[in-house]
Amino acid sequence: MSKTYDAKCHCGHHQWQWTLEADKQAHILCHCDTCKILSGSVYTLNQIVPKSALKITAGGEPSKYSYKGDSGNSVDCYYCPHCTTHIYHHQQVMGPDTIIARTGVPAEARKSFPVGAEIYGKAKLSWEPEIAQTFETLPPS
Ligand SMILES: [Zn+2]
Ligand SMILES: [Zn+2]
Repeated sequence: MSKTYDAKCHCGHHQWQWTLEADKQAHILCHCDTCKILSGSVYTLNQIVPKSALKITAGGEPSKYSYKGDSGNSVDCYYCPHCTTHIYHHQQVMGPDTIIARTGVPAEARKSFPVGAEIYGKAKLSWEPEIAQTFETLPPS
């Protein structure tokens, strides 16, 4: 069953909702170096969702930071211009209708989701334990 999760950025300027199907109610840990640098930590909590799963309810259009991903295509990161909380990412290689939700931001999802998988295991730090099935980069599609 799908469920709706309320989210807001750290300063409260942006508010949004994720409506996620049951199979998307889990964190995917990303260990890539970009996630380490952008978050200041060792991995980020994510899920791959249809763009229609996101409804921004306050704050308007987020700011955008773009970088080149492994595929050579642009990855666009959408964030609050005031506190820099990341709302979602769009990897252009995935097409226009698929986005990456930051599942660690909505309070209920942060606390209740299990870990579904780990990606970019090749960049995982040596002292981190394995929590779920770990892929060297991305799962085979
Ligand atoms: Zn904010
Ligand atoms: Zn990453």
